[in-house]
Amino acid sequence: MNATIRQIEVKSVISKTNLPVSDYAVNPYVGCTHACKYCYACFMKKFTGHAEPWGTFIDVKTWPPIKNPQRYAGKSFFMSSVTDPYNPQEKIFKRTREFLQTFQGVDINLSLQTKSDLILRDLDLIKTFKNVRVGFSINTLDENFKDDMDAAAPIERRLAAMKILHAEGIRTTCFISPIFPGITDVVAIIDAAKNFCNLVWLENLNLRGNFKPKIFDYIREKYPTLEPLYDSIYRRRDLRYWLQLDGVVRDYAAANDFEYVRNRDDLQRDFDAPPVIVNFFFHEQIKKGLTAR
Ligand code: SF4
Repeated sequence: MNATIRQIEVKSVISKTNLPVSDYAVNPYVGCTHACKYCYACFMKKFTGHAEPWGTFIDVKTWPPIKNPQRYAGKSFFMSSVTDPYNPQEKIFKRTREFLQTFQGVDINLSLQTKSDLILRDLDLIKTFKNVRVGFSINTLDENFKDDMDAAAPIERRLAAMKILHAEGIRTTCFISPIFPGITDVVAIIDAAKNFCNLVWLENLNLRGNFKPKIFDYIREKYPTLEPLYDSIYRRRDLRYWLQLDGVVRDYAAANDFEYVRNRDDLQRDFDAPPVIVNFFFHEQIKKGLTAR
């Protein structure tokens, strides 16, 4: 797809964040040409004056040199919260690479989250960080469903990249998100990634964004038998699907001797320990339901 590309100057690429895992978010781009149908970050259009459909534009940021990066030592950074640091344009513009170069030798806690194996290009830089984790978003093993949902790298390549990074001693996360009820096979994905990831994060599909009608149209067209299930979850707020999935993952974790916890990251565990599965099902009601089990 031909994206509209603009170059923009910003005062800083680092912004404070309320994300539970980080002090700062780093977004080297505005927009994201991975164009996921469920992208919650599309709210950025409102703040950046873009009228084009999400996924069809990208603003490439340049920023002034970051003075004294050492002052950020001990802080945690998340790349990226509203774009993918390895979208296809990164191959040309190298803005993520620029950030990684600036922070060479600074003891920050860095999390990179992507849907692309372009990240392997920066292995040389990533390896130098003492506290670094790379997450890959994978919510299916079915490349056709993936192609329906996003324009990012095939799942096979994401898994291959995860394996390479892990073999290089880098902590990896398999972020199973968003979990599409009746479509995402959580256990099969964990099985595919378990030998080369340290964490598995689970996050349910959230249809609060304005993409809800698009997803409903898609389900109606491609998975008509699932329409009643989506209706019950997203129109009648029935939580039973998530409670049942929680039980399935709990049983799977017990059978495989994996730890299964809620809302906890853990950089300190042995690198070679089995993955910890972290449940981020986030709706308050669901959390209550799960806690009551
Ligand atoms: S990769 Fe992330 S930021 Fe990019 S479109 Fe997909 S969900 Fe949105």
